[in-house]
Order: sequence, then structure tokens, then C-alpha cells
Amino acid sequence: MRFILFICLSVGFFATAQNLKSPSDFHGYELGTQFTRHHEVVDYYEYLADTDAARVKLIEYGQTNERRPLILAFISTAENLQNLEAIREAHLKATTGGNKAEKAIVWMSYNVHGNESVSTEASMQTIYELLTSKSSYLENTIVIIDPCINPDGRDRYSNWYNQYKNTPYQVDPNSKEHHEGWWTGRSNHYMFDLNRDWAWLTQVESQQRLKVYNKWLPHVHVDFHEQGVNSPYFFAPAAEPYHEVITKFQRDFQETIGKNHAKYFDANGWFYFTKEVFDLFYPSYGDTYPTYNGAIGMTYEQGGSGRAGLGILTRNGDTLTLKDRIAHHLTTGLSTVEVAAKNVEKINAEFQKFYQNRSFKYKSYVLKGKKDNLKALSTLLDAHNIEYGHAPLTTLKGFNYSTGTTGSLKTDEHTLVVSTNQPKGTMVKVLFEPNAKLSDSLTYDITAWSLPYAYGLNTLASTSLVNQIDPNPKSATTKTEIAKSTYAYITDWDSMEDARFLAELLQSKIKVRTAYAPFSVDGTSFKRGSLIITAADNDNHTDFTQTLKRIVSKHTAINLHATSSGFVDTGKDFGSGYVQQIQNPKVAVLSGSPTSTLRFGEIWHFFEKQLNYPITVLDTEYVDRVDMDAYDVLILPGGYYNQYYNEDKLKALKEWVRNGGKLIAMGRAIDGIDGEHGFSIKKKKTEKDTASVKPMAHEEQEREQMKNAITGAIFKTKIDNTHPLAYGYGTEYFTLKLGSSAYDYLKNGTVAYLEKNTDPVSGFAGSDAQKRITNSLVFGVEDYGRGNVIYMVDNPLFRGFWENGKLFFANALFMVN
Ligand SMILES: [Zn+2]
Repeated sequence: MRFILFICLSVGFFATAQNLKSPSDFHGYELGTQFTRHHEVVDYYEYLADTDAARVKLIEYGQTNERRPLILAFISTAENLQNLEAIREAHLKATTGGNKAEKAIVWMSYNVHGNESVSTEASMQTIYELLTSKSSYLENTIVIIDPCINPDGRDRYSNWYNQYKNTPYQVDPNSKEHHEGWWTGRSNHYMFDLNRDWAWLTQVESQQRLKVYNKWLPHVHVDFHEQGVNSPYFFAPAAEPYHEVITKFQRDFQETIGKNHAKYFDANGWFYFTKEVFDLFYPSYGDTYPTYNGAIGMTYEQGGSGRAGLGILTRNGDTLTLKDRIAHHLTTGLSTVEVAAKNVEKINAEFQKFYQNRSFKYKSYVLKGKKDNLKALSTLLDAHNIEYGHAPLTTLKGFNYSTGTTGSLKTDEHTLVVSTNQPKGTMVKVLFEPNAKLSDSLTYDITAWSLPYAYGLNTLASTSLVNQIDPNPKSATTKTEIAKSTYAYITDWDSMEDARFLAELLQSKIKVRTAYAPFSVDGTSFKRGSLIITAADNDNHTDFTQTLKRIVSKHTAINLHATSSGFVDTGKDFGSGYVQQIQNPKVAVLSGSPTSTLRFGEIWHFFEKQLNYPITVLDTEYVDRVDMDAYDVLILPGGYYNQYYNEDKLKALKEWVRNGGKLIAMGRAIDGIDGEHGFSIKKKKTEKDTASVKPMAHEEQEREQMKNAITGAIFKTKIDNTHPLAYGYGTEYFTLKLGSSAYDYLKNGTVAYLEKNTDPVSGFAGSDAQKRITNSLVFGVEDYGRGNVIYMVDNPLFRGFWENGKLFFANALFMVN
């Protein structure tokens, strides 16, 4: 039976392979002469899966924000595909010491940056060649193709290009078709860079993709990109710095693959470069994340991207066409599969080794702190298949993240333990270790991301393995009854979960107060910022009790304390001036040039997907004609404001603040509103800024500039937690600093700040940059007339992953008055 079936399939395969339509035949135009819209790409993959079902399996693993399908194609021989699940299981066994498997798993991802538009086109030709001319590679290989990681961005670009292109296309780089403008297709719907999101999983595309990725953990992963028009092709091996967890084999095999590509490029006389620019350190890329999960993870970069269109003149006077770009990505894609297919035994053995014998200095990380932050962290760990447990009640010794020295930690019933003795141990080390080792400081991304700092948890790294116990069976927490006779309900305020709860209350027209002083009632103490919902405030609400019940049942982490009196034991009574109603603010954010798309996107996403609170997006094109009195809060995302706020614009902005507006200026937006005609914040200067210039060797300059740089490092700041901007925080906060711009303390309202010690607790900071940020402001509030300006020098919403900083933003919205 089996034999007969095999014969049938083979005959079937032979017939279909001969008749399979190429992408050009299928679409009715030569590939590379048009941009194929995403749904047409999906059509082609569906056609392949329908026509050659024995060798192509298609799955839809999710949808984008704009409802485009996210798909994966699995291709191999008919026999392999029939055993796909068994092959997957055998492969995964290698992560837990099982016998090594016999197939190579190669995963190729295209178009993560939507306007790097060649990739998806190239994917179609690549899958076609693998099923026809290169089908021999499939004998012992499973190839997984994601034709487009970022369909929303990809279609934004291709639809834009189709609207603006000349006919025939114009190769003059000055023509509009080569100038995409502010709303670029690089990022996803929320203007997030999906190639910075593999580890943080803030975006729906990443969240859905990682579920499938973790089921497969391929041997090889390629992320196809494009760079500037004039750059030759880049392929492996990658540049330094490499993270220290990368094995010798992972380094060596990049070289093996690179040399195979070079063979084809040399034969065609194509230019390429290796070992420069694209490093392997920050864990949230499409090359590093797979690498830290045992793969040979690589980035390939074609010259072109959103500027190149169908054809463009390069600096050398050559015309770079979409067809050329396809040919290059096709070549490296096929060559990658070829190398994997030839080295099946080796890569299986090495993959298995990667998951064994990994001995790291720290064996366990012990994390204690706010329950909501621990919950948020465990959600992220679940998404990465990282195992964790509860710590026994004891006192442990180890490296203390807060003091930076050896110390002890007394665990409580919520304390978590994450250890490296698990399949995902390497990821645990990369994400949790206090300070990732840089083999070279010349990297242009952040150099620190340690999760204990990002989640604001009191953490100990232990060189010996810490036991894990099952959590105590939950003492059934009876939820407070919402009853008509209650005088007030109180809950604490210290996390994003609390902010989401408040946001929903306010939108449901429930009035909420907050306490500007600590108090205790019925023997329970509450800190500043605690939320107080009184019956009296809400007696005009049509359905107060039911609405509150509904919201409380939805926010399972929220615990309300019900009290029958407003007479407190200590502190201020609920009728006091220290207990004020929280506004339901109307919020607007500036978008368009000169704001940065990424910085704008982080705010947009924060409101709609994290806080769940409405926001109006105003574009700089027409904001001057908008009646700003309709808004209580205006947010200026980081950007390049240089000349944007001229004297007139600043005057109008100050008038709006004076009349009660709340302005939140983030990062480099501060440079737009300071100075002679602006608000009172002052940029810091150092001796270096005024010192005379000395001659320096040309080759030294890049390194010399690093002295002035902070590309992303973690610093310990002091906090004035009596200020509403810092409600819910302790007296210190770890900030992710993304640049060396620094400002003096404010006269009043310096809330988070650096003092003398500016050594980063994690990551790299240049020596001159460190001098500059001495005694500098991190977060602060300037009262101005009836309104105020909130300065966020560091960006707590950066890439959406700095969980412990988000409450500052919620405080800025709801607590600061
Ligand atoms: Zn890219």
C-alpha cells in the first residue's frame, strides 16, 4: 500500500513539477517589472500549494493589524512532507538531548522591512526554483519560507510606488518615485520596526510568528533585507561584535555559507562585502534571535530598499533594476539551502551540541517585586517557551542587580526563579545577565537590555542552581463585593495593569480620585497615587455598580478594598484637598515630519494596544489650523525639530500651556522647545564642547566619536517619588539611555535624575558622554501658568519593551496636574 502510494506520489510530483507555473507565468508579467501586491503573492503561494500539494504545504499563522494574512510555505519532497510532524518532533528532541535527526531545517524570512521591496518578489522565484531546477536540495531538507513578515508595510510601499511611478520608470534618483516620504513602508502598521521586536514581541506579527518559530527552531535562518542604493550585497559572516554565547561552529558555518555565495557572485562578477556593519549582539533581530536559539542566523542585504523602485541610477552611473536585485537574493537563498543540504549531518550534530554542555556563570536568576511586573515578565517568558518556577521561602546570596555587588535577597511567595539548565538556557543568559559582554564597542544599536532592569525587579543572579517549587495553591482570593452600601473602593497604583484599569474606568465615565498623600484606612495602608472610587462622586452615573463590576471582573489582577467610611486612620480624608479627581484627558500626538516615525509609532501603539485609551493623531501639515483648546494633552514624539518651532509657533504653544495645556516632550523633541524663546529647560554643556579642535588621524575618527556616544545603556537614577510623575515607584529607577543629550536639573520638578556616578550598570557609554550626563535630568515637570511641561529625556516607550518605565508615562497623563 505504502509502496504503491509512493509510486503514485512520485509520478504526480513529476507531472506537476514539469507543469508548475513560474511567478512570471502565473502573474502575467515578467517578475521584476512590477511590484506584486501582497494578496497576489499569497495567490501564487496558494496556487503552488494547490497544484503541488504533495510538496508544498501552506499555513496561515496569523493576521496583521490591517487584516492581511501571514503565511508560511513548507516545501520538501513528497515523502518528507508526509512525515512533516515526525520530522519536526525528531528535530526538537535534539534540544533535550535526544538522538540527532536526519533532515536539515532551513527557514527563510522575507520583507520584514516592508519597503525593502525586492525580498517578497525574490521569495517567489526562490520557491519556484526549489520546486523545479533545484529540487534535489529537498531530498534531506525542509525549507520553510515566510514570503512576507510585514505585509502591511510591504503593501504600503508597493501601493505608494504604483501611484507615484513614472511610465516607463524614471531612473533619475530625484524623481518622486524614489522619495517615499514620512509614512514609510519600512515599519508595520504601528510604525514599529519588526526587526527589533523578535525578543520583545510587542507586535502582533512577531507574537504570531514566534509561536510557529518555536515549534521548529530551524538549523538555519535567513532574514532578507535591503540597504542603501549604492551598497554592494552583504552576506555572512557578520561583523563584530558577536555575543559571547555564539559558538565556534556558528561562526565557522557562517563562513562556509558566505564562501558558497561568493562562488556564485564571483562567477557573475557581482560585488559584495562581508564582516562589516551588521553585527550579532542585540537579541531582537532576525539573525541574533535565531542564533541564540541554536541556528545559523544571518542577515542578507541587497542594495536598493524604498529608494530603488523598478530601477535607479547608482553613484557609479549604473542602473540598478528590480530584476538585478531579485537575481542576487535568489542566488543567496538557493545557495543557503544548497549548503544546508550538503551538511545535514554536521548541522544536526552541532544543533544538538548547542543545546548541551552549555555552562554559564550564573545558573539561576531570582526575581522579586511588583506582582503585576512579575506577571508581565512571565507572559513574555511563556511566549519564548522559557521555563520558570517559584522560589522557596529563604534568603539567597548572589549578584544583586540594584547594588551591583554581592548581596542577599529574601524571597517571598511571588518570587520567580529562571534558570539556565533548560533548553532555552542560552536565551535566559542573553536576556537576564546583568551585563552582556561586548567584543567591540562599535555597534549602533543598544548595548544593554537586561530584563530585570526593564521590568524593575529586585534581582539576584546566583552561580548555583536555585530550587524551584510549585506555587502555593492560590488561597482563593475572594473578590471584593461591589455593593450599593459601600462608601468607597480603593486600589493601589504601581503598574501598567493599574493604568489600564484606570483608563477603562475613565472611559466608562466613572469618576476616580487619587491620593496625593499616603493614608491608611481599616488598618490597611495605601501609598500616594492609590485610586479611590467613591459612591458620592458617581451618584449621577446611570449604572455605577454594574459598570464597576464589569470592569473589575475583566481586570483580574485588580484587588479593590471596600470601605464604609471616608474617615481615614492616618493621612488625609477623602474629602481633603489631598485627594483629587483624576481628569479624563483628551490626548493628541504630533505626527509627520519632523517627528520620527518610530518614536511616533511607539506612542500610538502605547495608547491603542497597551493602555487602551483613545488618542488623536495630528499631522504637522495641518496642526497649525487645529483648535488646540479641544485637547488637554499634546505629546511631542522624539524627532528632528531643529527649525520646526520658530518664534511664532513657540509663542502659540506656550500660550496653550499657560492656559492649562499639558505638553509631554520626549527625547529630542526637547531640543525643539528649549532656548531663548522656549521653555526653561537648559541643555548641558561640557568643557569638550568648547575646547579647541585638535587634528586626528582619519582612521581614528570613528572610534574617537564613540567617546561621545551612548547608543543604549542602562543607568541607575534617583527618584523623587513624592512627585505625581513618580507615583508607584520606589526611590530608584533603572533607565535605558539612548543618547548623550543632557539637560540641567529643573528649578522645581526634577523627578528622575542622575547625580555624580554615571557609570552604566549595563552596556557601553563613552567617557565624554558620561561626563556630559553627570547631574542631569531624566524626567521632570515644569509648571507653567495653569499648565505644565513634562520632559522625558529618556524614552520609557522605546520599542515598547521597557515595562517598568511605562507607569511614568501613565503618571504624566493621569497623575500630574
Ligand atoms: Zn532591513
